[in-house]
Amino acid sequence: MADFTLLNGILAGGSISGKAIGAAGDRITASVSGCTIDLKGQSCIYPGLINTHDHLQGNYRPPVGPKPGTFYATWLPWDNDLKASDTYKERSKLTREDLYSLSGYKCLFSGVTTVNDHFPQSLNAEILPTLPIRAILEYGLAHEASSYDLKWGDGVEVEHKRAVDNNWPFITHLSEGFDDESMNGVNFLESLNVLDSHCLLIHCIGFSDEDIEKAAKAGASVSWCAFSNMFMFNVTCKIRKMIKAGINVTIGTDSSASGSANLLDEMRYDRNLYREMYGEDLPAETMFRMVTCNAAKAFWMGDRTGSLDEGKLADILVTRARKDDIYENLLSTSMEDIELLTLAGNPIYGEMRFLDIFGGKLPEGYTRIIVGQRPVFVKGDPEGLYRQAREKIGFKKVLDFLPFEPTEQKDGA
Ligand SMILES: [Zn+2]
Repeated sequence: MADFTLLNGILAGGSISGKAIGAAGDRITASVSGCTIDLKGQSCIYPGLINTHDHLQGNYRPPVGPKPGTFYATWLPWDNDLKASDTYKERSKLTREDLYSLSGYKCLFSGVTTVNDHFPQSLNAEILPTLPIRAILEYGLAHEASSYDLKWGDGVEVEHKRAVDNNWPFITHLSEGFDDESMNGVNFLESLNVLDSHCLLIHCIGFSDEDIEKAAKAGASVSWCAFSNMFMFNVTCKIRKMIKAGINVTIGTDSSASGSANLLDEMRYDRNLYREMYGEDLPAETMFRMVTCNAAKAFWMGDRTGSLDEGKLADILVTRARKDDIYENLLSTSMEDIELLTLAGNPIYGEMRFLDIFGGKLPEGYTRIIVGQRPVFVKGDPEGLYRQAREKIGFKKVLDFLPFEPTEQKDGA
């Protein structure tokens, strides 16, 4: 890994006040070291984004939802509809490895360096380290903490204890619906004595005002997955009350089988929805915190990632500066605006001018593609993956979280 320095970028979220930020080894530094690239005040620099809720085996399009004019009362009929759908049949032509790889690129192309795959480690521990981004392996989990959930892991109490013993999050869907059990999620966790700051609670659409107060008092985190909630249930959690109560709110995409295309789209959707719900704007800086430091805290990784501070992992996102306000800029960032993404100091995606970090030569295990009419380098071979996926599916399937069109394969290539 080569050290590098970015000069004259516009920085968000951290304590570095000078004109330089870069990586020394896998860590952020404000000292000038290694290859130096001048951003000339035309690029914004953020911590790599964090998506607190996804299902990496389920990212396929289009999303599958309720019949027109109807909505679900719990997630269970959605699961049944999904598995009976033509989309699922089509998706089944891809291998598990294909789906995980596609999900890795869903993250990468949207500036996400850290994600949680809501699935037991017994099923994903081998595959997650093969992805180009960081899918965390350090968590305790339950599927939903209800009697009809999918029985993942070793049970709520054992999984929660494991999280506490290791300083990990305990992650579970909660109150994703409106039957008696969904409405009783917080009380259920409380009765097991596990409602605390290790809890990262996904969805929470059935939360009462009292539940919100209890979760806030316990120091729990929430993953707000508004697109998926609205698509399936036509309602999301009481987000303004949650923020006001002081809950550590983060944002999740959920899988693209019910959720948004990626985290950038989700943030824009959430902003508009909030405006519709409350007639006021959710500040862009608040949303920025939800996908960086709040999310790092929810993952119990705040000492390692989530802000541009010296000594943290060099997860760095560089985007085109389109707006004067750096937080508004993030909300208007599209996949085509991303200029560089590094994971623990290692560039995993970038415009060709950043190739100097590698000494001007494309390293082994990287390929070139065209995104937004610019050639870019990327870790792995997403073009080959997309092409092979289309061959297996049998037609030119469009996956909108991939920002490029594969070129025709050359003879003998
Ligand atoms: Zn989920």
